[in-house]
Amino acid sequence: MEEFDELTCIQCNLQWKRLKARGRKPRLCPSCLQAPSVDSSHLTINAPKQENTTLRYKPNSEWKCHSCGVYVKVCVAIDEAPSHTCKKRLHKVYLLELI
Ligand SMILES: [Zn+2]
Ligand SMILES: [Zn+2]
Repeated sequence: MEEFDELTCIQCNLQWKRLKARGRKPRLCPSCLQAPSVDSSHLTINAPKQENTTLRYKPNSEWKCHSCGVYVKVCVAIDEAPSHTCKKRLHKVYLLELI
């Protein structure tokens, strides 16, 4: 006669049985053990992705061109410096400088 342990998964609350064995009882069911990524999906629910925090420049950043004096205020978060066509520099496109 074989004996079984009744186990409960700490992650998904699944109850399952396995052959009684010595040593530590597993705390995760076989499917959770095989798919550790299940854990990260819980994490994304707890910590919703905030797009703004990954961007380099915060909202309401102020930019200007020192050559032509163009001034721009960007009210959203951006990752790259805005550019403009500079009248003082051969009408080429230059990046603005953060104030
Ligand atoms: Zn589980
Ligand atoms: Zn300029």
